[in-house]
Amino acid sequence: MLSIHAHPDDESSKGAATTAKYTDNGAHATLVCATGGEEGDILNPAVNTPEVLADLFNVRMAELKAATDIIGYDIVEMLGYRDSGMKDSEANEHPDCFWAAPMTESIARFATMLRRFRPHVVISYGDPMGGYDHPDHVRVWEITDPAIVLAADPTADLDGEPWQVLKLYNSMWSKARMVATHEKYEELGLESPFDKRWLERPDHDHMITTRIDVQGWYQRRSDALLAHATQVDPTSPFWFGLPDDVMASLNNEECFERVWSKVETASPEIDMFAGIEVATHG
Ligand SMILES: [Zn+2]
Repeated sequence: MLSIHAHPDDESSKGAATTAKYTDNGAHATLVCATGGEEGDILNPAVNTPEVLADLFNVRMAELKAATDIIGYDIVEMLGYRDSGMKDSEANEHPDCFWAAPMTESIARFATMLRRFRPHVVISYGDPMGGYDHPDHVRVWEITDPAIVLAADPTADLDGEPWQVLKLYNSMWSKARMVATHEKYEELGLESPFDKRWLERPDHDHMITTRIDVQGWYQRRSDALLAHATQVDPTSPFWFGLPDDVMASLNNEECFERVWSKVETASPEIDMFAGIEVATHG
């Protein structure tokens, strides 16, 4: 399996428990990270020091290594772009940023990696119009499918042998889970971090095709998040405001949208490798 993410830490906040579960069961997992996250703020006051700020790229690379070791990734590969920053920020103009790069170049780069790593399953992001529209997230979504097509094209001017990915998924943010989490805060008399802005986010849960049972793997996701010390405050009510066992039961599954499949599979689906006959264990 191969996941493509925009920034270091996205691999821990989206689909981490799923990847941990599959790698524990013998799957080989590759992460392609599009940018170095250079534009991210330091969100944890405990590590907000001038030294860390001056060396943010290297600090975030070390965090990424620690987090992906926890999740169980076999390979971590950088697509090699600079973080584009938030929408309409100055960083969008930086010549090395992902957003400024010609799309054909990004597609070819990712397609070459698909030929090299030969994943059967690829996990990307959903239609950005329905969710988080950070330019790097939008661009990940825009290049994924064209890169898969290019990687499989025997006439493409690209290094490596053609490779056909069999299934494409998007990570889904589940509104039902957010609402359930919000209600749990209220039930326990705690202040919910989900304000009106969150509760009004559009509901795309009808697009969920695939639910992966990750009971027993939630802690790996928490530990991976915590490895991103500059991005995740261990005292944050957003990530860690509820008792661990309550959070684990609220997050007992991770949701995905199957964009397409080249193999026959069921809907709804509980296994990303359903229909794929290759052995994931040697
Ligand atoms: Zn991100």
